[in-house]
This record gives sequence, structure tokens and C-alpha cells, in this order.
Amino acid sequence: MILTVTMNPSVDISYPLEEFNLDTVNRVAKVSKTPGGKGLNVTRVLKQLDDEVVATGLIGGALGTDIKEKLLQTGIKNDFFEISGETRNCIAILHEGNQTEILEKGPTITKSESENFLKHFEELVKNENTKIIAISGSLPDGLETNYYSKMIGICEKYEKPVVLDCSGKALIEVLKNNYKPKVIKPNTEELSQLIGKDVSKNPNELKEILKDKLFEKIEWIIVSLGADGAFAKHNDKFYKVNVPKIEVVNPVGSGDSTVAGITSAIHENASDETLLRKANVLGMLNAMEKLTGFVNLDKYEELFKKIEIINL
Ligand code: ADP
Repeated sequence: MILTVTMNPSVDISYPLEEFNLDTVNRVAKVSKTPGGKGLNVTRVLKQLDDEVVATGLIGGALGTDIKEKLLQTGIKNDFFEISGETRNCIAILHEGNQTEILEKGPTITKSESENFLKHFEELVKNENTKIIAISGSLPDGLETNYYSKMIGICEKYEKPVVLDCSGKALIEVLKNNYKPKVIKPNTEELSQLIGKDVSKNPNELKEILKDKLFEKIEWIIVSLGADGAFAKHNDKFYKVNVPKIEVVNPVGSGDSTVAGITSAIHENASDETLLRKANVLGMLNAMEKLTGFVNLDKYEELFKKIEIINL
């Protein structure tokens, strides 16, 4: 079983508008409200792959209850920890080919909630059915920047591997700490943030960057490169992944779909090549759909074969 973690989930609201008028009323007829947050996108893709998955994280208030109900309606098991704060809404206004987003910050976590979630998490990690943990997204207010390190420490205690997809201070803190995730998946923007300078998509440059001490003891570093595929380091092996040209509809959530592919491949002990193909196919399939964290698997085999993996 795969355990996914979403520490600051949301109800994602999409408002499609022909025209977005400022400083006046905009009426919207076709509203969609879905459980959101990067970890829940990962969860949805894993569910579509038929992998056994349980979603956890922090949840609260009426919107929290709504998320849990919606997940159960789609057959997704979950075991969230209840907090006193209210789970947030995130609004995307789709207008004239643009996407204007209004993202609520979300609840502030209290000290006792912060401590008690770690106990809840430990129980889930300890469970013999839990084989791997995928942690995605930002930390809500109230949790210290080293909170993911504490969670990874718990996973290490039970020898369970972690796939981590986060950015900024939370990721820097993890890289400085002794407990290491098995995989990280930064995109080039996140990698630039980490090393404090601009990063190109040049494989030779990426190879040098990933040899840095900062990444020591992290088994897999997979840098996703959008339409340029990915660059990966597995221990002392380096790979460039080239992907075919596709018709992109909405690339939001492609990285989450990639994380689902990585986690699923490790869960089934796949080879390096299969892992990289699966991760990139799922990223592509997400980009080809309107919905975030949704893939149409009909084209899976065709794209899987078209991907090129080069050893560097
Ligand atoms: P993130 O969403 O984290 O920024 P990316 O945009 O790099 O991640 O996308 C993740 C993966 O999805 C890429 O490695 C690639 O396999 C696939 N992908 C995303 N955008 C495209 C695109 N325009 N064309 C082909 N593949 C894409």
C-alpha cells in the first residue's frame, strides 16, 4: 500500500468565465469543486493506476468533511488527522485563455496538533501494509520548516522509503538534515531556488549540479523539464529522458502525476528505465487533459514506447 501525504489540502474551485470583469459582478454557471492539493493529485493518479493507496494529512471544518466524502465517493481510502482550523478553498478563474488564481493560505496548526499528527503518521507508517510514502506540497502555517524532516525520520525508523516533492525552505531543511528521502523531484525553478542561481536544461550542467554535496545520500533526484522530459540521477548513474511532442491541454499537475509514476514504480520494484518511462508518461498524460491529477490511460503504452532514455 502507498501512503500519500497532503498537509495543506484544499477544495479547488474552478470558475470558467467567458470574460472576467474587474470591479463588477461576474456570474458563473458551471462551477466545479474537487479535492485539491499536490498530494491529493498524486493520490488520484495512483488510484487510476489501480495501486492501493491511502491519503493522509491534516483536515478540518466543513470543507474538510467535504473532501473526505468526495474521496470516498471515488473509492479513495483516507485517514486524515482532524484539526481545529478550517481547510481552505483555492479558486481558479478561467477566462479568455488565462487562469487567475486566488489561493487561501489555509489554517494555522497548533503546537499540540503538530505533535499529535506525528503520532497519527507514525501509526500509519508502522502498518505492515504501508510500503512507501509520497509527501507533496507546502507546509501550513504553524508547522516548523523542519517538519518534513521529522516525518522522514519516522519513515526511516521503519525503513520505509519516501518520495518527497516540496520546495523552498521545507526542502532546504530536508537536504540539511540527516534523514533523507529516497527520491526528490524538483523542476528547474525549484532547483534554481535550492542552489541560489539560474539553472538551464543542459544535461551536462545538470549533471554537475546534481553531483553537489547538497544531494548526497539521496538515491534518486529526478529533475522534471516540462516539454524537455527529465534529467535524473540514480546513485552514480545519470539519465536524460526525452519525451515525444504532445498536444498540451493543461500542464498543471503534471509534476504530481510524475510523482505518482515514480512512487508506483518503486512500489512494484521496477527497473530504472521503467521507472523513468512510467513517471514521464504519466506527466504527459496529465498535460493532455483539462483536469488536474487526471490521466487517460488509453495512450499509456504508445507513449511509453516513444520515450527515449539516454545513459550519460
Ligand atoms: P512540474 O509540474 O512539477 O513543474 P513539469 O512541468 O516538469 O513538472 O512536468 C512533469 C513531467 O510531465 C515532465 O517531466 C514531462 O514528462 C511531462 N510534461 C509536462 N509538460 C509537458 C509538455 N509540454 N510536453 C511533454 N511532456 C510534458
